[in-house]
Amino acid sequence: MDLSIVVPVYNEEENIPLLHDALIAVMTPLSITWEAVLVDDGSRDQSARLLEDLAQKYPEHFRAVLLRRNFGQTDAIAAGIDHSCGDVVILMDADLQNDPQDIPMMLEKINEGYDVVSGWRARRKDDFLTRTLPSKLANGLISWVTGVHLHDYGCTLKAYRREVITGYRLYGEMHRFIPVYANSVGAKILEVPVHHHPRKFGKAKYGLERTFKVVLDLFTVKFLSSYSNKPIYLFGGTGLVLVLLSGLVLLYLAIRRIFWGVPVLESPFFQMSTMIFILGFQSILMGLIAELQVRTYHESQDKPTYTVRKTVGFSSRDVVDNSSTTNRE
Ligand code: UDP
Ligand code: MG
Repeated sequence: MDLSIVVPVYNEEENIPLLHDALIAVMTPLSITWEAVLVDDGSRDQSARLLEDLAQKYPEHFRAVLLRRNFGQTDAIAAGIDHSCGDVVILMDADLQNDPQDIPMMLEKINEGYDVVSGWRARRKDDFLTRTLPSKLANGLISWVTGVHLHDYGCTLKAYRREVITGYRLYGEMHRFIPVYANSVGAKILEVPVHHHPRKFGKAKYGLERTFKVVLDLFTVKFLSSYSNKPIYLFGGTGLVLVLLSGLVLLYLAIRRIFWGVPVLESPFFQMSTMIFILGFQSILMGLIAELQVRTYHESQDKPTYTVRKTVGFSSRDVVDNSSTTNRE
């Protein structure tokens, strides 16, 4: 299978027939094998039944995954990816705010050698104050923190070569951070402007509150992408700075005592320095515990700490076993 189009669906009954027509219109002229994996995220309208009908009527292209309750867009996407089998995975929304007509262009870019083609709603058709503006700020922040510069993390329409998204579990609102993960395994990323339309049917499921969740998720993402193999650098680094700081305060107190005769114990600085020292020391210890966990994580699952794009010239030997070459210090 060349392509899987994964679509999360929550209360989109009016949009489903339109989505089907739009996908058929765009995909039929292309000479590739494709499937659309539509995931019903516990809708309360007729969406689930409509998806089931589609999958039964057009079994060669349409599949339905019906979740037991509403888990949220990220989980619905994760379920869709797990049930899909295309070499390339394209994610998009069910409400036709994303335009399936962009799919052929994105596929072309993938064929040119990009691993991630990220849609950017250059002319976004959502409410400015509650959606477009917060999203602009969030995108700037995410780009700055993660070092992966994209204008539009929130745009669902993105294409991925499967190998750069496998092995990544999605939690919280994390689907928007897939490009960051892909970047951390060495994916080549391209951003392309895509069309965006106002919602015609149904209601938008989110408002301003999502921005806060995104900012919190960003902490996790930054930590996991930068320090998940070496947490002691973060915890230990913080710890060392604090211990050093407490040393400096002590030094200051000692100098004051020696040259001006100011008693050390009576100064609030002394207690402060003790506290900072304990905090710093604790942080280093936490880093050590985190290091233990990293080893448990990688070694219990035989997960290497690196990702290989391709190996050359190994054919004469036995199959190379990744697990035996895992980085075990
Ligand atoms: N969605 C979902 N589960 C939810 C909320 C939304 O599967 O709990 C789906 C929804 O049906 C749509 C996509 O996620 O296909 C994006 O939702 P929406 O259009 O409301 O978000 P926006 O475009 O406003 O960011
Ligand atoms: Mg939408």
